[in-house]
Amino acid sequence: MSLFALAPDEAERRVVELGGKPFHARVARREVFERGVLDYAEMTGLPASLRAKLAADLPILTAEVAARSTAPDGTTKLLLRFPDGAAVETVHIPSRHTGRGATLCVSSQVGCAVGCPFCASGRLGVQRNLAAHEIVEQFLLGRSVGPLSRSVVMGIGEPLLNYEAVRAALGVVHDELGLGARKVTVSTVGFPERLRAIAPTRPPFQLAISLHSPDQEQRDVLVPAMAGTPIEDVLAAGDDWFAQTGREITYEVVLLGGENDSPGHAARLAERLRGRRAGVNLIPYNPVAGDAYRRPSPDAVERFRAALAVAGVVATVRWSRGLEADAACGQLRLRERT
Ligand code: SF4
Repeated sequence: MSLFALAPDEAERRVVELGGKPFHARVARREVFERGVLDYAEMTGLPASLRAKLAADLPILTAEVAARSTAPDGTTKLLLRFPDGAAVETVHIPSRHTGRGATLCVSSQVGCAVGCPFCASGRLGVQRNLAAHEIVEQFLLGRSVGPLSRSVVMGIGEPLLNYEAVRAALGVVHDELGLGARKVTVSTVGFPERLRAIAPTRPPFQLAISLHSPDQEQRDVLVPAMAGTPIEDVLAAGDDWFAQTGREITYEVVLLGGENDSPGHAARLAERLRGRRAGVNLIPYNPVAGDAYRRPSPDAVERFRAALAVAGVVATVRWSRGLEADAACGQLRLRERT
């Protein structure tokens, strides 16, 4: 049982059972979050006898780093394995612009039920939800690679299908790791009724909705779990989110070469977003070995961005980093299983 799987008062009780004082639980937590200490043996503020018992009984980390790869640009992918064998990926992406800090991309589920045909994680289906402490552990291990300045919940899984754990973990990240609401983005395929239930709670994160196509028929194929949900309903839920939280939505499009990267797609996307306060992220697809989709050409990406700009929609292009290091979503995990 991880230290972070327990509520603070439960952790204090457990520490007392192990022979410590209640405040020792708070000391341990502070050491972890404020000083980045991940080994009780280094916590000199705790009695030596207690440190060994805590390590055996209330580990800080339940995940082990099963694989680690670093691309020439510094992007580091960690494959984390939990005691039941479940594995997820966490990616540490150093900031290119400031040279300081990094964005951490974390997973919310083991596998994913949404089933996007261009995504390796979708091919495996969903195995289970991650517990809140398993999401927090990704932050702790990611920070051990290097300092964090931002985070995106955009790894394996659909965060709104495991929202309670995501909410609890991001609460810890906000309060104890100091990553504020503007520094954390949750990326979802945008279930309208779930967004409407969450918005009034004004959660401490920015929202990104993966649209992938302005055309209903194509979106139904690219985001199978949303087939039958009209794009207009998703956008209307995004409008409600903005009205309730005051935070603009970012709409994301993974650009697939020859599929959804034409100027016509851009024009129709701009039409969908007309009059809405929203930005767009364009993510040129990162090919996975053996799949049917290809990377769009740089020219096609630029034409798409320019067509949006002409229509008054500001778009940012995010070429995925670390292509050389198995950077496609879910790819490390697939390789481990084969
Ligand atoms: S792209 Fe995201 S939502 Fe789609 S299957 Fe992959 S992890 Fe799930």
